[in-house]
Amino acid sequence: MTVQPLPILPGSWLGLLGGGQLGRMFCQAAHRLGYRVAVLEPDPQSPAGRIADRHLIANYDDPAALEDLRRQCAAFTTEFENVPHGALDALALNGPVRPGAKAVAIAQNRISEKRFLASAGVAIAPHAFIETPADLSRARALALYPGILKSNCSGYDGRGQARVDSSGDLAAAHAQLGFVPCVLEQRVAFERELSVIVVRTHDGASCVYPVSENIHRDGILHASIAPARIAPAVAAEAQAIAQNIAAALDYVGVLCVELFLLPGARLAVNEIAPRPHNSGHFTIDVCLTSQFEQQVRTLTGLPLGDASLRSAAVMLNLLGDLWEQGEPDWSGLLAEPDVRLHLYGKDQPRRGRKMGHVTVVGATAAAALARATAIGTRLDGAPPRVRRGMPESQA
Ligand code: AMP
Repeated sequence: MTVQPLPILPGSWLGLLGGGQLGRMFCQAAHRLGYRVAVLEPDPQSPAGRIADRHLIANYDDPAALEDLRRQCAAFTTEFENVPHGALDALALNGPVRPGAKAVAIAQNRISEKRFLASAGVAIAPHAFIETPADLSRARALALYPGILKSNCSGYDGRGQARVDSSGDLAAAHAQLGFVPCVLEQRVAFERELSVIVVRTHDGASCVYPVSENIHRDGILHASIAPARIAPAVAAEAQAIAQNIAAALDYVGVLCVELFLLPGARLAVNEIAPRPHNSGHFTIDVCLTSQFEQQVRTLTGLPLGDASLRSAAVMLNLLGDLWEQGEPDWSGLLAEPDVRLHLYGKDQPRRGRKMGHVTVVGATAAAALARATAIGTRLDGAPPRVRRGMPESQA
């Protein structure tokens, strides 16, 4: 297949690496604009694979599957950052790969990510790199306690991390993470956690969504409030930081920048994700153009869409814990006029696994948060449940 000129028009095939919920929402946005999607994902029951126009069930670095994808699709994207490097390089021979392999490589490795952020002049938490036994000895002497030891690769939702309360804990924490290269980061006393979704095109145009405020439980995102309850000047600064990072990376696509708001209205970047992000799901329900539609637009060379908020919203993640006694009965939730339910079609609910989310819409962030708190309490409490495959009367 020859490389198509931009824009790549609706009707064309788009190739996606990864079959998770972010990929599913990419497929939904691509379908709405008339594109077809081929997903490369080894799990035969993946959320994106279930709704894609074609599902190649193979590993992400399978040469035959990559060749197949290359022949069929006009452009390629990914829904997770831990995609093998060679896969993106192989796909780039046949069409645009957005985001590109270089940006993905930086974001999938905490050490290169921190080096990049520091070189771009972005404020980050005090830290040290631990790649050799000598680094470990040196790090012990630094004033980074209490701290968090984070493995260099493959950490998400708080995995691959260990608490380090004092220098005496460091060796055990390193052993707990399997002696892999790590970043030791000082635990910062943040007032809020924030994130910004920035979108950038191949010719350098960019737009940025309103800042969202994120609340984690056990290292997993629990709720996102949009817009964040922060001063306008702080929001503008967070958005400018995100746009500067995207420009410094020469990024094309959708990028999430996670930040800490520190005392004194100072901002520090925690990490970046080279893809749409869980904290940006509110954009599906309260923005004219969702983060996933922007992924389609930037991939195909179409103009950016409007990223302004039409109303405030709070997103609540729905974890597998809610499925302990079978599929929850969603009727009560669906009867609420200000709630939208999104389920990802996963059939193995596990504790901590993201199964879906709800968006609670409100006139202001405070109003949406009050409603979301009531809804979340009801969900956490004793939601009425229907056992899978069982008539309601028997549940
Ligand atoms: P991460 O995987 O780096 O995003 O970390 C997961 C969560 O751990 C973050 O969302 C924060 O709640 C917390 N966290 C990570 N790094 C720090 C830090 N340096 N100081 C305080 N909390 C942190």
